[in-house]
Amino acid sequence: MGIRTGADYINAVKSRQPDVWIGGRKITNLYDEPIFRQPINEMARLFDLQHDPEFQDQITHISEETGERVNNAYLNPQNGADLQARRRLFEVWAEATFGLMGRTPDFLGTVVTAMASNDWFFREYGEDRFGDNIINYYKYIRDNDLFLTHAIVNPQNDRSRSSAQQAREDMHLGVVKETEEGLIVRGSKMLATLAPVTDEVLVYSYPGFKPGDEKYAISFALPIETPGIKILCREETQNGERSTWDHPLASRFEEMDALLVFEDVLVPWDRVFINQNVEAGNLLYPKTGINLQPSHQSAVRGLTKIGFVTEVTCAVADAIGVDGFLNVQTQLSELIQGVETIRALVRTAEAEFELTPLGEARPNIVPLEVVRGILPTLYPKAVEILQTIGAGGLLMMPTGADFEHPELKEIMDKHYGGREGISSEYRVRLFKLAWDLCGEAFGQRLVQYERYYSGDPVRKLGMFYNVHKRNNPVYPLVEKALNDSLELSKDKVLN
Ligand SMILES: Cc1cc2nc3c(=O)[nH]c(=O)nc-3n(C[C@H](O)[C@H](O)[C@H](O)COP(=O)(O)OP(=O)(O)OC[C@H]3O[C@@H](n4cnc5c(N)ncnc54)[C@H](O)[C@@H]3O)c2cc1C
Repeated sequence: MGIRTGADYINAVKSRQPDVWIGGRKITNLYDEPIFRQPINEMARLFDLQHDPEFQDQITHISEETGERVNNAYLNPQNGADLQARRRLFEVWAEATFGLMGRTPDFLGTVVTAMASNDWFFREYGEDRFGDNIINYYKYIRDNDLFLTHAIVNPQNDRSRSSAQQAREDMHLGVVKETEEGLIVRGSKMLATLAPVTDEVLVYSYPGFKPGDEKYAISFALPIETPGIKILCREETQNGERSTWDHPLASRFEEMDALLVFEDVLVPWDRVFINQNVEAGNLLYPKTGINLQPSHQSAVRGLTKIGFVTEVTCAVADAIGVDGFLNVQTQLSELIQGVETIRALVRTAEAEFELTPLGEARPNIVPLEVVRGILPTLYPKAVEILQTIGAGGLLMMPTGADFEHPELKEIMDKHYGGREGISSEYRVRLFKLAWDLCGEAFGQRLVQYERYYSGDPVRKLGMFYNVHKRNNPVYPLVEKALNDSLELSKDKVLN
């Protein structure tokens, strides 16, 4: 089949009935539900870009294996050019959503491609058939252009205990039975972003399994509407009824998050990638580097998002004529330099790629981890700067309806304008765009996303230091400085 259109995707959403719950209601028709409709349409636009003559060759390619056109997320990169081709996909889709949707289909397409490029791992730490399963699954989602969600974190029931030690052993997702058909799994997993509107769910875990956690150390994929999977959505940040005039971002890009509860769900054997194997569960990340290729997507998307917030902040400052003040310029420069730092890091990661013995080109992990280290503080800082520069103006904005009322129109046009050349309507719309990013619940979720989208930043920085120390066990410049000074002091004594 190859690349889907937006209409293909919408028809797929309409054709199935996942068990989705929100606000105590079971959603029977996702597309007719205002909360979901616009986000589904936004996702459909991404699929349509694959058919747009302007972008098609930039974001898709012809599969050597099938001769069909497929998305660039399914490129197993072999060189720098492949990495750049894939980056172009990340860029085009991120720009179409202003970087505000983190789990667009390219993210998990890249994860599965990285898993399939390392099928040896699933064979060596499991069984041959698990290696075949991941390759077949990769081909299946590539050739049907499927959209995945993932649930890889256990809910925060008691973080001081392992999964096996929780109050109930079936709280965290684990295997309760093996049958001839496959595994029966029970328990819950979070935080499946966009789950209601996806085709499939992929389950795996961050490392951290303890002896005794065997039944929780699993990885598999299932269609999202598989009987027994309950999708419990968080409360919405917008109800789908607010106008795009008043909420230009929140009304479009709500990326719903959900807890997935598995109630004795059958995972057929051909969908199992890791089966009750603590060692495999703990080594999946370090041995396959599956976090690395998707980190490239996250970095490009993050660059678009921080670049967008920076642009909005500059536009707000310009619109009310405060960008000539030194304190404002300092804040704006801090943001602009942050964006440029991330851009340089992404380019460095691509230019300094490494080839694995199997020929997979992997972007350099160090600059990508630096991006991951910077964004959880830079992004909240950007939002704070936007709040600071927008100040009280952010809180006095009327609605589109006020502009339409004949009795108010003149007042609107007179009192809401900005510096010379900035009309009332432009300024109000700009400030409402800014408020979606820095004030609305929608914007607060975007901050939380940047902090946590790829694990706990605190432990990530700890790991970064440990890896750095392992790779740099000696301090050559310190040694040189100490030796030089010793030599010099000897000379001085001799003199
Ligand atoms: C908006 C958003 C979208 C997300 N989307 C997805 C998704 O699509 N799929 C998915 O699977 N996940 C997703 N995640 C989940 C994400 O992976 C987790 O939030 C992240 O891994 C952090 O885990 P946690 O939230 O359970 O926090 P915890 O690990 O519970 O941490 C809570 C706090 O305790 C501290 N802490 C906990 N344990 C330790 C420890 N051992 N040592 C030191 N400090 C500790 C942390 O530093 C932190 O401050 C998303 C998260 C967010 C916020």
